[in-house]
Amino acid sequence: MKTKKALTLTKPDDWHVHLRSGEMLSKVLGDTATNFNRAIVMPNLSPPIKTTADAVLYKQEIETALIENSDFIPLMTCYLTDETDPDDLISGFKTGVFTAAKLYPAGATTNSDSGVTNVLLLDSVFSAMSDAGMPLLIHGEVVDHEIDIFDREHKFIELVLEPLRNRHPNLKIVFEHITTRSAVEYVKSGQPDKLAATITPHHLSVNRSDLFAGGVRPHLYCLPIPKKEHHRVALVEAACSGDKRFFLGTDSAPHLIEEKESACGCAGIYNSPNALQTYIAIFEQNNALDKLNSFAALNGPEFYNLQVNTEEVCFIKGANPTSFDDVCVGDSRIKAFAPPFPLFWTVR
Ligand SMILES: [Zn+2]
Repeated sequence: MKTKKALTLTKPDDWHVHLRSGEMLSKVLGDTATNFNRAIVMPNLSPPIKTTADAVLYKQEIETALIENSDFIPLMTCYLTDETDPDDLISGFKTGVFTAAKLYPAGATTNSDSGVTNVLLLDSVFSAMSDAGMPLLIHGEVVDHEIDIFDREHKFIELVLEPLRNRHPNLKIVFEHITTRSAVEYVKSGQPDKLAATITPHHLSVNRSDLFAGGVRPHLYCLPIPKKEHHRVALVEAACSGDKRFFLGTDSAPHLIEEKESACGCAGIYNSPNALQTYIAIFEQNNALDKLNSFAALNGPEFYNLQVNTEEVCFIKGANPTSFDDVCVGDSRIKAFAPPFPLFWTVR
C-alpha cells in the first residue's frame, strides 16, 4: 500500500488575527484556537481596545469563550490613537497585558476611524515603545484619496515608514500583511530584529485579476487590496525563502455574508479554518515545504522574543480535495476563504 504523504510542523502561531467580540467571537475563536497555539489579536473592535484596562477585559472575554482545557494564548494589542497615553501603554506592556501596539492610519480599513491622523503626533509614544522594546505593528497604507488604491502600500513606505524608522531606528516594527514587491524589498533592507513582515494566505494565493474573474468576487476583497501577479510572486518568494524577517499572519477577518455580498461590500477574508492548508499548498507548489516550519512557527517567536512552541502538529495529504464549512452565526454565516486551487492536506 502506498504510504500517505505526511508533514510535521511545530504548532504554529498566528501573528495577526481578528477575533471580534460577542457572538461572532464565540463562533470563530475555535478555528484559531485549534490551529494555532498563540495569536496576536487585533484591537479594532468597535469601540477599539485603547487602554490596558480595555485589553484586560477583552482578554478575559476571549478566555471565557475558549473551550475547556484549551491551551490557546491570546496576545493582546493596543489600538493607537492621537490620544494614546505612553505611560499606560508601556505599563500594559511591562505587566504582560500588551504584546504590541497597532498603528492604523485613520480610515485605512475596517473600524479604523479612530486611528492615527498624523504619525508625528505619536513620536513620544514611539520613543517610549522603542526604549521598552515593545513592537509596533503597522497597517502600511496611506489613506490619501489622491493616491490610487493599488499604490497605497508602496507610497506608505516612502512617505511614512522610512521617515518613522529614521526618527526611531531602534523601534521594532512589523509591517503587517504586505502585498507588494516594494514591501518585500524594503523589509529585506532592515535588521531582522528591528523590521519584519507578516504575509497572509490570501495574498500568497490571489492577485488583483482574481478579484474580477468572471465578475466581482466580494469574498476575495480585502485591504490592502491584492496587487498584480508579480507582486504576489514576490510575496511567495519571500515566504518560501526561510528569511527570518517574514512570518505567518493570517489577517483572518470574519464578516457576515450579507456584509460581503452587498452594494458596498466590506473588506476582509475569513481564513482561520484553512489558512494552514493554504500555506502548505503554496509552499508545496514552490518546492519549499522544508522552509514552512520557519515561516509558520520559528520566525515569529524569534522576532517577538518568545519561546518556540513545543507541541507538534502532523498533516497528511489526502487523495481528494478537502472542503471547509461556513461558520453559522445566528441566521447568517461567515464564508471560509476559497483559494483558487484545491487543498489536499488535513490535520491528522
Ligand atoms: Zn488585519
